[in-house]
Amino acid sequence: MKLFVPILLSLLCNTVLVAYATASPPHCPPSEGLSLQILGSGGPIADDGRASTSYLVWIDGKSRLMIDSGGGSFLRFGEAGGKFEDLDHVGVSHFHTDHSTDLVALLKSGYFSDRSARLSISGPMAGGPYPGLNNYLERLLDSNTGVYAYLSGYLDGSAGLVKLEPREIDPRLHKASLVYSHPADDIEVIALGVPHGPVPTLAFRVRIGQKSIVFSGDQNGSSDAFVDFARGTDVLVMHMPVPETISGVGRNLHAPPSVIGDIAAKTDTRLLVLSHFMARSLDHFEDNLKEIRSRYQGSIVSAHDLECVKF
Ligand SMILES: [Zn+2]
Repeated sequence: MKLFVPILLSLLCNTVLVAYATASPPHCPPSEGLSLQILGSGGPIADDGRASTSYLVWIDGKSRLMIDSGGGSFLRFGEAGGKFEDLDHVGVSHFHTDHSTDLVALLKSGYFSDRSARLSISGPMAGGPYPGLNNYLERLLDSNTGVYAYLSGYLDGSAGLVKLEPREIDPRLHKASLVYSHPADDIEVIALGVPHGPVPTLAFRVRIGQKSIVFSGDQNGSSDAFVDFARGTDVLVMHMPVPETISGVGRNLHAPPSVIGDIAAKTDTRLLVLSHFMARSLDHFEDNLKEIRSRYQGSIVSAHDLECVKF
């Protein structure tokens, strides 16, 4: 009998190894069409079992557009099968940690890709203690003073790294700004400032042919300009980190569920994706949903990490 134990163990190990090697990642993209993949559906506290905010837009099986890169999204990007060389544009809504900390990790991974094209990136101008996009990149990547000076090639295209093409948008403007376009594929990304307390913050609208998806960013929902910006979109991604009873600082930063429902109804969006959860909103999830449903009659998806939404 003893002779069989090593053989049995060997067989078991081989089975496990084969299973690991052949397990397919949770690929979102069909080879054709458009889909949104939620890389991170959580907030700034590690109490929700989710990566912080990040989204990927797949076009015909390629990870072309990324919005935000909060903590944990670097891992999710890999799990999703995203490829750095396929990214056309990265939008950063604002410089809170739960929207931006994994950006530099994503850039580092690009060193190992065969990408040669520059990478377009957009984010808000500075305000208060928050840097603008250009200053954020300099503080990280400057060849003398940058925290990650070894990645300074992203600023000038040296050392085998691709040059970033940053575009700062003034969030105080009340009209949308074009941040990226790919005329051959009929892709446009526009950005608009949204009210997130004192934090300079952008919302993004992605149009691909006749289809569109809007990313609200963190916001308190008080902007009529945002309603116009998002009107008629196929998919509206809105953040629900707070319960209906929120007040004070939290209310100045974030829209309660009733306001999310009002905006989804006013914009006549086809599909509302709720994301950026925190334990304090998940604890009241059913009540929050009732507030939204009483105002908005369209379809609702409650996001989970790596979930795929075709549109
Ligand atoms: Zn946030």
